[in-house]
Amino acid sequence: MEIKDNKPKKPIMFYYAAVIVVLLLLNTLLVPGIMERSIKQSTYNEFLDRLEGGQIDEVNLEDDVIYYSVKEGDRTQVYKTGRINDLQEVERLQKANVIFSEEIPEKTSPIISLLLMYVVPILIFVFVGNWLSKKMMKGMGGGPGAMSFGKSNAKIYVKSSTGIKFSDVAGEDEAKELLTEIVDYLHNPEKYKEIGASMPKGALLVGPPGTGKTLLAKAVAGEADVPFFSISGSEFVEMFVGMGAAKVRDLFKQANEKAPCIVFIDEIDTIGKKRDGNISGNDEREQTLNQLLTEMDGFDGSKGVVILAATNRPDSLDPALLRPGRFDRRIPVELPDLQGREEILKVHAKKIKIADNVNFHEIAKAASGASGAELANIVNEAALRAVRDRRKFATQADMEESIEVVIAGYQKKSRVLSEKEKLIVSYHEIGHALVAAMQTNSAPVHKITIIPRTSGALGYTMQVEDGEHFLMSKEELENKIATFTGGRAAEELIFHSITTGASNDIEQATKLARGMITRFGMSDEFDMVAMENVQNQYLGGDTSLSCSFETQTLIDKKVVELVKQQHEKAYKILEDNIGKLHELAKFLYENETITGEEFMKILSEPVAQIAEMEQK
Ligand code: ADP
Ligand code: MG
Ligand code: ZN
Repeated sequence: MEIKDNKPKKPIMFYYAAVIVVLLLLNTLLVPGIMERSIKQSTYNEFLDRLEGGQIDEVNLEDDVIYYSVKEGDRTQVYKTGRINDLQEVERLQKANVIFSEEIPEKTSPIISLLLMYVVPILIFVFVGNWLSKKMMKGMGGGPGAMSFGKSNAKIYVKSSTGIKFSDVAGEDEAKELLTEIVDYLHNPEKYKEIGASMPKGALLVGPPGTGKTLLAKAVAGEADVPFFSISGSEFVEMFVGMGAAKVRDLFKQANEKAPCIVFIDEIDTIGKKRDGNISGNDEREQTLNQLLTEMDGFDGSKGVVILAATNRPDSLDPALLRPGRFDRRIPVELPDLQGREEILKVHAKKIKIADNVNFHEIAKAASGASGAELANIVNEAALRAVRDRRKFATQADMEESIEVVIAGYQKKSRVLSEKEKLIVSYHEIGHALVAAMQTNSAPVHKITIIPRTSGALGYTMQVEDGEHFLMSKEELENKIATFTGGRAAEELIFHSITTGASNDIEQATKLARGMITRFGMSDEFDMVAMENVQNQYLGGDTSLSCSFETQTLIDKKVVELVKQQHEKAYKILEDNIGKLHELAKFLYENETITGEEFMKILSEPVAQIAEMEQK
């Protein structure tokens, strides 16, 4: 059930141009050549001999050539000879009783020349055209026949044997449950009809990239006993206007014939974008979408055609697609939680050789925020690392290192931090962690390393999963901002100078502060008024302002105020704990890495002990 990749389509103009060039070549070079060849050369002597022998029937006297025809058996052969200034020529010809002709010899066989001039090129044209269009259809993955433009390229899966099953999809229990229900309905609809329940016509899988939407659809295909059509939204987008719509029509025709069945449209946002009434709008896409809407209304839900679609941009979809009767069910496929991550790691770890004592729970904890695709990648990286070290199986250390590789990039061996830089980075990272720890009284980090990464990060902090967390209070958000500013605050406190190392912190702190003011109603000024709207919730969550210029100015002022306040707070925290800051930074500087436990241990030791240590 692999997806066939389409060969790139060469522009159709190219083929037509090629055909025309071939035809021109034929006409100018070959055809006259062939015609010439049927006329034989002869000497003037031969001409005279033949004339005297009485073999010649007709002559055509041109300015400097003579064409004459000779009967040879039952066919006439045309000869050609140069014309010599022969005074007796006409006399001789008359004596031989030949017919003077204007044209005959030159076009000896009018039928052949007609064939050569007109019929053959047309035949060639038709043949080449036919061949090319067939070739193109193949390239488009369409069926046979020259006129099958606009056939859908949906692949049908019928109960694949190699297929992916629901058990291959870890976590995502709600999504699996919903999809299982659909599969079950298709297997025995009577059970549902008895109660009078009808299945939703369509279900939309929405979620961030890499969370297993396509995987889930494939699992449905693996589980379903019914035909499964799969097509990607981009395959509807064609060169010619109307082709996409034709494909949609064809897809649904096929689906109706094969019902009960499942149709899966991946990345549906390519065709399902909001129609925006722009004059310069994309006609082809709109036509395709309209056709899709019509088809979804047209078919009978009880027949058992269920349409699944996946997207990571649900907010850009046309509202008409989402209304009941079309994609009326939305199945969220979210980033996995701690347990989900652990399960995903286990599913993928089955594919590689791995040490028995690997603690998946720990790894899942460290890989907080990773998507299913990233976790799959982490497992694979661990296996690659084991091979690189010539080991037979991957270990816990491999897994831990590969988390950092996948999230922060490879270690940059060539990039060596100078001692001074290393010191600054140590204080910076400890600054973050210490501010966080003092605010929450718990271990803020899983691990900090100060090995440069290919992503450009000089240090890397693995945050601790802060548990299942759906609501954030104003205080928590403020504390987070303080934590972001903690790195810079440490630099200020210790070195009395600042570096570029905080650019990412600044970005994050600003984003958070802006969100608090413009979207979460956490400022005194704006009460519960939204000043910003989020777009692309699953793709980074960009926002757009929706307020007057005056308000924008005010917002900017408020954001600066908020961040500044938290920055001062962070500075104060570090100042009060400067002893610990020195101690922790020293540990990180010397070891290049510090774990959460080591961090908390040093932090909880009484200050007196440190003084002792410093004396030693
Ligand atoms: P998308 O949501 O972008 O369509 P995919 O379904 O293509 O993501 O997932 C990409 C890969 O990530 C899958 O092939 C699989 O290896 C892995 N993956 C993602 N989610 C899961 C999951 N829940 N369980 C197991 N593997 C997963
Ligand atoms: Mg996908
Ligand atoms: Zn930082």
